[in-house]
Amino acid sequence: MKVALVGIGKIAVDQHVPAIAGSPDWDLAATVSRHGSVDGVEAFSDLGAMLAGRPDIRVVSLCLPPVPRFDYAMQALAAGRHVMLEKPPGATLAECHALERAAGAAGLSIYATWHSREADMVAAAKAWLADKTLRKLTVTWKEDVRRWHPGQAWIWEPGGLGVFDPGINALSIVTEILPDEIHVTQATLDVPENCQTPIAARIRFHHPSGADVSAVFDWRQEGDQTWEIEAVTGAGTLTLRDGGALMQIDGTTSGEAAPLAGEYPRLYAKMAQLVSRGGMDMDLRPMTLVTDALALGERMRTDAFVE
Ligand code: NAP
Repeated sequence: MKVALVGIGKIAVDQHVPAIAGSPDWDLAATVSRHGSVDGVEAFSDLGAMLAGRPDIRVVSLCLPPVPRFDYAMQALAAGRHVMLEKPPGATLAECHALERAAGAAGLSIYATWHSREADMVAAAKAWLADKTLRKLTVTWKEDVRRWHPGQAWIWEPGGLGVFDPGINALSIVTEILPDEIHVTQATLDVPENCQTPIAARIRFHHPSGADVSAVFDWRQEGDQTWEIEAVTGAGTLTLRDGGALMQIDGTTSGEAAPLAGEYPRLYAKMAQLVSRGGMDMDLRPMTLVTDALALGERMRTDAFVE
């Protein structure tokens, strides 16, 4: 299938282009980007021109930041194209519901991707937790924003999510591996005095059986980076490390320390399946947790962020 990639920036270049190139299902047939392009691939700077000029391309994959994504997705759906959405699937939940309705009404596939769910050990963690009694779950997601998001002003603007941009990846794993639903009860958000979005957050969740569930996200972590989820159960402790690439159960480790490896090829394989069977996948639970944390969160002003 031919796919057009929209928004040729960091994630498109780092992950989408190689995943498509290595896939038996996909052919990168066009790009749409105001500044970026991919060698050897027809480049457009305007989505409308691509949709009109390349009716043979049936699938559009959007790698833009969240705020502009809705208009691009609606335009692609209105032109009868299947749509794949980078995370988060929109800037608001209402946008995501509107996209789901529009795709459903047009009989098109839409996929709200959560790349971290495709990390190597996530499925094994889900299987192990399925019959366990959860006592405590702690998410620790601490990374250096200067290292991973250089020059990205949009993350600090309204709708940019701040530290929830990586934090939502942790929540996409938690909502995948836990057999029970959780919701946010309390949040504290550290917002730099020159920014609109948090640089750090601490969140508490309700769990239906009373397990102690919490998360700490921090973008000020220098040196070693931590992307870890620890689940203490009645039958032992499971820890996912390196964003889900490694799993440790009571001291025994499985997997290889290679964050992001295999995630995007699996997303594109799933999109190929969705399109071929006419399916949709719009799981909005990670987004709901983030929007609720932003709604309930107590804002604490902190030092200005200077890149
Ligand atoms: P990015 O490099 O800052 O932006 C991607 C591209 O989007 C830009 O190169 C730009 O291309 C286009 N763009 C930016 N603002 C726009 C606007 N207002 N209107 C239209 N186009 C605009 O961002 P990124 O890191 O690739 O992230 C994009 C999405 O992928 C985000 O939702 C992010 O959460 C997700 N993601 C990122 C990473 C990561 O490690 N960076 C990992 C996983 C997922 P042109 O200027 O050429 O049009």
